[in-house]
Amino acid sequence: MHPLHGDLVTIVGEGNVIDDPSTLSAYSQSIWNPFPPISPGLIVRPGSTNEVAEVLKLANRSKNPIVTRGGGASLSGYPQTDPGRSIILETRRLNRVLEIDPANMVVRAECGMLMSELEEAVGAQGFFVHTVSVPVRYVTLGGVLSGVSGSGLPPKGARDGTGLHFIMGMKVVLPDGRIINTGAGGSNVNSKADFMRGGSGPDLLGLFMGDGGIFGVKVEATLELSHKPPVRSGGFSYFNDLDSSWKAISKLTLLEPLPFSDVSIYGPGCRLLFYGVDGASQEEVDLHTKRIEKICQEEGGGAAPEDIQSKLNARIDGTSLREESFVKRTRGLVSFISGKKEFPLIHKTLTEFLAAEIRRLGFEGNGLSVVSAITPKKSHSVYASVSVLFDPSKEGAKAATLEIQKAAFKKAVEMGCSLEPHGGYAALMAGDAWSSEFKDTIKGMKALLDPNNILNVGLWGL
Ligand SMILES: Cc1cc2nc3c(=O)[nH]c(=O)nc-3n(C[C@H](O)[C@H](O)[C@H](O)COP(=O)(O)OP(=O)(O)OC[C@H]3O[C@@H](n4cnc5c(N)ncnc54)[C@H](O)[C@@H]3O)c2cc1C
Repeated sequence: MHPLHGDLVTIVGEGNVIDDPSTLSAYSQSIWNPFPPISPGLIVRPGSTNEVAEVLKLANRSKNPIVTRGGGASLSGYPQTDPGRSIILETRRLNRVLEIDPANMVVRAECGMLMSELEEAVGAQGFFVHTVSVPVRYVTLGGVLSGVSGSGLPPKGARDGTGLHFIMGMKVVLPDGRIINTGAGGSNVNSKADFMRGGSGPDLLGLFMGDGGIFGVKVEATLELSHKPPVRSGGFSYFNDLDSSWKAISKLTLLEPLPFSDVSIYGPGCRLLFYGVDGASQEEVDLHTKRIEKICQEEGGGAAPEDIQSKLNARIDGTSLREESFVKRTRGLVSFISGKKEFPLIHKTLTEFLAAEIRRLGFEGNGLSVVSAITPKKSHSVYASVSVLFDPSKEGAKAATLEIQKAAFKKAVEMGCSLEPHGGYAALMAGDAWSSEFKDTIKGMKALLDPNNILNVGLWGL
């Protein structure tokens, strides 16, 4: 039995400390990625901020490693720590909406909520909150704030940017059990929420965003709300190749005001450009749509062939992207951020590199394929993912994917991209590319907040 078992039961109750081998194995990795599992000693499921704090105080006293887990959807594995001894702290019981405040247009919620739960709760009152484009029913608020570049890539990120633009404050339990509010409570203890980041002191929030969970366990967050758009529409334009779809998307992102709420390129050969349009009225949506279509046509875009078009119609509201079959596709994901100017060469080099690796390992047309999804982030940058899809029933396909994925991460770093970390291995590679000054600063902050180094040990190579 794990040495902390009894004490943890006292903190969270019998049913919330789990050590049966089948549950441990199910929690030890995401099944959709090719990375090896970790070997935790047990799982603890706290149900309140105070319980999280007590668990961390105990782990800190006994110097026992903790890995925080939200929905477990990371596609780059978990850091490998202390087999049999490390404890998974699972946040899913922290799943309450604490306050929807229509006067201030904010929502305060616990960080173990699934993004779909948050979306539905505010949606029922006519509001919209930025969540994620795809795995909305699998990922938690805390997982997205921690594990993705820019604290989340929301569906409307092409127009509005990454998640960190919409978070106003957080409550975080530090590795030694202290509880810190990044806005209110730090800058003004008499206020429940912070309404302007950095308004009355340094903006500490940024430290915890996209940190991979190394500085603390996020337990609450306050997010901006907006009204659901009265009219929403979308469409596709079909191009000859990536060169022309890229030209169109580049032009679209320079328009002011931006006519789209979301826009991306994907599909075989990157020939499909998808756009979503929001508006206060049908007239406004039609006007925006005309501007988008005009630019697409100028660059050679047109209607997709009929068989493709019917499949595409199902994608306009994003539902099919969020289906289990899409989310749980087995893949080695290489995702990165680059400048818009640098992007075409990077993407070309990376996809050619992947194709050559697949050929070299003998999997061309035989269990491995590559697919890209490209989304601008406002007018300045691009988020792109290039996935090696693998067929787990083909012998050696999973191992080959892992080898190729690792090599592609290295290549992307060499070309100057920022990797989207998700967690484990990609964070390790990203950390390897930090300058020594940057790494030393992060190490110093880690030592300050987590002197016994118990939380997500090894992430970023720390
Ligand atoms: C198919 C697919 C599509 C995706 N598409 C999108 C997308 O459209 N937009 C987007 O934003 N993301 C997307 N993601 C990425 C996903 O949102 C991230 O991997 C996210 O981190 C997963 O959240 P999770 O709750 O499953 O966290 P986990 O996988 O459990 O954890 C991820 C990291 O966050 C840490 N962590 C988790 N919870 C907390 C907490 N409460 N406090 C501190 N640290 C914590 C963990 O220790 C770990 O380092 C996609 C993932 C998949 C599999």
